[in-house]
Amino acid sequence: MGLTGIQIFKLLPKTNCKECGSPTCLAFAMALAGGKAELDKCPYVSDEAKATLSEASAPPIRGVKIGEKKVGEELVFYRHEKTFMNPTAIACLVTDEMDDAEVDAKINNLNTVTFDRVGLTLSADLLAIRNSSRDAGKFAALVTKALGATEKGLILMSDNLDALEAGAKAANGKGALLYAATADNFEKVAEIAKANGASIVAKGASVEEVSNFTAKIAAAGVKEIVLDTGATDVKSMFYNENQVRRAALKAKNRDLGFPTIEVICDMTDDPYKEAMLATVAIAKYASIIIMSDIDKERMLPLLVQRLNLYTDPQRPMLMDEGIYEINKPGSDSPVIITTNFALTYFIVAAEIEASRVPTWLLIMDVEGMSVLTAWSAGKFVADAMAPFVKKSGMKEKISHNKIIIPGYVAQISGEFQEELGTEWEVVIGTREASDIPAFLKGQ
Ligand code: SF4
Repeated sequence: MGLTGIQIFKLLPKTNCKECGSPTCLAFAMALAGGKAELDKCPYVSDEAKATLSEASAPPIRGVKIGEKKVGEELVFYRHEKTFMNPTAIACLVTDEMDDAEVDAKINNLNTVTFDRVGLTLSADLLAIRNSSRDAGKFAALVTKALGATEKGLILMSDNLDALEAGAKAANGKGALLYAATADNFEKVAEIAKANGASIVAKGASVEEVSNFTAKIAAAGVKEIVLDTGATDVKSMFYNENQVRRAALKAKNRDLGFPTIEVICDMTDDPYKEAMLATVAIAKYASIIIMSDIDKERMLPLLVQRLNLYTDPQRPMLMDEGIYEINKPGSDSPVIITTNFALTYFIVAAEIEASRVPTWLLIMDVEGMSVLTAWSAGKFVADAMAPFVKKSGMKEKISHNKIIIPGYVAQISGEFQEELGTEWEVVIGTREASDIPAFLKGQ
């Protein structure tokens, strides 16, 4: 368990100087205890107090870095309370009993299956390498090959400690995650991890079993720990993930305050069931999941689900207000106006691009709301839109006077026309973005 606010307060300077941004040392102590402040915001903490406090002020779920990918550091149980911090890392499994062609195909999928959405590139994150052969030489050779074939972080999986050590040595300095330490072998695995700059999965048959030895691994000098609580199906996974999250965040149980891993590919041979299990794991707090392959059909829904869960619900994804040029528009090109909700922008912009019709896209700031939401909130309405259009500078760029509004707000066309006056002619566009290419070609 971490320190309470009062225990932390006793270690602070108690000068209430406010430099940390809190009104008093007590308020800062309470924020630290709740994982809502960072210790380095107070410049006056003694080194001695720092050592004690840095442990207490660590996030309730520790962060772990595997290669360049960070997992954990979650602060809230429900997404609407604040935001989820580090998206579930998706890993692809290869084994040292697969032939070269199969390994190459899976690594190629991991490297190349990406999707562009709302201005972001979505992709899987890690390569899990399993020592199915139990042969140390074979395992190390595959790790070496993988390091040359992908820049993704590595999870090294073996129950043969000699092989695990050989793999860890091959990946020395790359921040690999070693899978797995058990209650019987964690001392040796911790030694291997320390010698090779790796982190460790603590694996047990249950949440209780794992919680019994994570503190011992930390005491052995490895603080970057990931938990495998032995789930083998959707029911146990759902239950265990909830238990761990609740214990770490609500009860501030430090023994369970670590990211989690689910080896989804071992729970089923059916690729569709595997995808279904992955959706549950992503929704219910898994920090890392291991899949049998990174194929486009299953990755698109999983990556979009992950994106939706890990965006900040208090900060809508939005675009800057302004004039966007698509397909090199000129003075006779059509003008479309819509809102600055990022998803709206990217969907509309993609359809205009696909149409190849040079077009001006006029984006209005409505605090990141979609067209209908902004209309019903009184933000995408005639008396707000008309002054924006007049001030936008759009008129100076064109030789015609037509402005196209989304079909979903056709009802504002009369009032909008009135507000704009004779300088503009309001045209009602399509309701669905997918109809934009045909509409533009008809202009
Ligand atoms: S900066 Fe440090 S000493 Fe100053 S109010 Fe904050 S906690 Fe107290």
